[in-house]
Amino acid sequence: MESVLPGLFRIEVPLPQSPLQTLNSYVFRGKERHLVIDTGFNREECFQTLSTALRSLELAPELTDFFITHLHADHYGLVSRLAHPSSRIFFSRPDAEVLETWEGFEPMIAYAGMNGFPENELRQALAQHPGNKYGTEWIPGLSVLRDGECIHYGGYDLYCVETPGHTLGHVCLYNPEHRFLISGDHILGDITPNIQCWSDAGNPLDDYFRSLEKVDHMDVDLVLPGHRSLVRDFHGRIAELRRHHEARLREIETILAQGGELCAYDVAGKMTWDIRCDRWEDFPVAQKWFATGEAIAHLRFLESRETIRRSASNGKMRFHIC
Ligand SMILES: [Zn+2]
Repeated sequence: MESVLPGLFRIEVPLPQSPLQTLNSYVFRGKERHLVIDTGFNREECFQTLSTALRSLELAPELTDFFITHLHADHYGLVSRLAHPSSRIFFSRPDAEVLETWEGFEPMIAYAGMNGFPENELRQALAQHPGNKYGTEWIPGLSVLRDGECIHYGGYDLYCVETPGHTLGHVCLYNPEHRFLISGDHILGDITPNIQCWSDAGNPLDDYFRSLEKVDHMDVDLVLPGHRSLVRDFHGRIAELRRHHEARLREIETILAQGGELCAYDVAGKMTWDIRCDRWEDFPVAQKWFATGEAIAHLRFLESRETIRRSASNGKMRFHIC
């Protein structure tokens, strides 16, 4: 456990078997009530680490509230196990709606199939999906926070900043006085936030670029991200993240210019990935899933800019340069 500022602590929660390695959970210890931001997977190793740390900080469970930056299992998975009946659990409206209208993974599975994900790998991908393995189906009564609303813990004002992209309902918390931003997975330092798309309804990469632009206007000296080390060069990191996705977009245009018509799965197989596998065929299925989701997000963005088009035949969508 690390003390970040007076009354603000960082707890590194292990994420076994995840390439993310650990999750940063942040704790505000207040005079009346306390706040825990993000929780780790719903699995024993995470529970042991976090509950031990909360006990050592002497936080009474009935006085502890939770804030979830976004609806991914490594962030919200444990909340229903840690929460006391009198805990408040803060969520964004869009992510709360996803929970309330959740129809399971089938729509995503069908969409992945349309994007060329092979039938025989789909069930395996679902079995290994962290949301399926380490999520929770039940979350006790949610308190919805909207953009600009403020909560107070440990002597800090924490303003909710909606930052869709990594998920539709992703939210950060901003403290203008001490100029820190709890960034969830919107801004990460050592790794790049994964931007995935699993339906034709949205354009997550476009959302993400807008959300980068939105926070770039803020004065921030210290970023407290959801994974790995703290970030101090806020605007520099935003510029790097933008360049990363712009390079990705150009890479995909090049792939399509050479490859004719391709499904998102095949585009993902030709993109460069920072993973210890030489060949796409050797990627673990779970990594192929995330890579395909990322490819779709970039394809949707290019499609919205009318630089590529899709065609559909035999239940599969393929993309080509305009
Ligand atoms: Zn995460």
